[in-house]
Amino acid sequence: MTPCVKSFLAGALAVVALAPAVRIAVAAEPQSRITILYDAFGNDASMKKDWGFSALVEIAGKRILFDTGDNRDIFAANVKAKGVDLTKLDFVVVSHRHGDHMAGLSYVLSVNPNVKIYAPKEAFGIFGSSLPSSFYRKDGSLPSDMRYYDGTPPEVMQFGTAWQGANFELIDKTTEVAPGITLIALVSDAPGTKELKELSLAVNTPEGIVLVVGCSHPGIEKIVEAAATINPKIRLIAGGFHLVAAQDDAIAKIVASLKNTFKVENIAPGHCTGEPTFAALKRAFGSSYVYAGVGTSLALGPNMGGVERRGEGPALDEDDMTTYRKLASREDPFGVRARRAQTRLATSESAK
Ligand SMILES: [Zn+2]
Ligand SMILES: [Zn+2]
Repeated sequence: MTPCVKSFLAGALAVVALAPAVRIAVAAEPQSRITILYDAFGNDASMKKDWGFSALVEIAGKRILFDTGDNRDIFAANVKAKGVDLTKLDFVVVSHRHGDHMAGLSYVLSVNPNVKIYAPKEAFGIFGSSLPSSFYRKDGSLPSDMRYYDGTPPEVMQFGTAWQGANFELIDKTTEVAPGITLIALVSDAPGTKELKELSLAVNTPEGIVLVVGCSHPGIEKIVEAAATINPKIRLIAGGFHLVAAQDDAIAKIVASLKNTFKVENIAPGHCTGEPTFAALKRAFGSSYVYAGVGTSLALGPNMGGVERRGEGPALDEDDMTTYRKLASREDPFGVRARRAQTRLATSESAK
């Protein structure tokens, strides 16, 4: 046997021996990181702050754009400020159909019109959808000009998207889209967002799951629970937990569950997580709380963490807090203000 063949066989055997039995954990590249491109707080003077979320996730040799922010021009400016090349993306994930996550998509398409975009599949949704024409009842006694499609409908009826021609792949259920990279598909049951479908990105690295969430409308605990079925070791959660208007007891319960039940190792909350939740997570996670304001790059891999402000100081400083408050006041995520107004109305009615 030549040395060349020998070393080939040895290599092949090593690969077989190392092959994981169940799930694939993808290699953590040294340059693996998450860069926050859009949020309403941050300390990077070159970045504009606005309500919404977007992050560039560089992991497992892939460049993934997760969400696209709230305003096309602000998104474009932040992308340029960070020197992010949107023509070099493996794919885009749009977590859900709220404007503060998808308004920058038109900018992405202007520079990279054919990029693959994963989005939730919703009936008659903005990302497009389809249904078998058998869904509607037929009546053959009608003249053909009173019948849909003259009585001969296509087998599958296609419904349009707001971004015609874009390369959407609609995700209906939790799907591993690349080795070790899974899109978790869950549906919200919360008032105001009932039936809204949301995708979260779970990457199974050798250090555990790196989980990126958009707004967590289906519930952050439900999303983490789903991620834990891939690998119970949760290395990091970044993104919006949607507790922006939650009360202290609800926040405390979720923080305890993330820390004690799911044993989440690091937490990098942003967007609609909410100020009291930033504070509560900071208290609970201490040095494992990773500051993730707009413009921050979070290093992943074995020595994971923010390049700055890890484990010291408050969750947000004074300036951060003021801007975040101003922008958050525009949001009525659960129809909270609407419900409060209703309650006030009911109370004043019953007082009459
Ligand atoms: Zn949302
Ligand atoms: Zn949002």
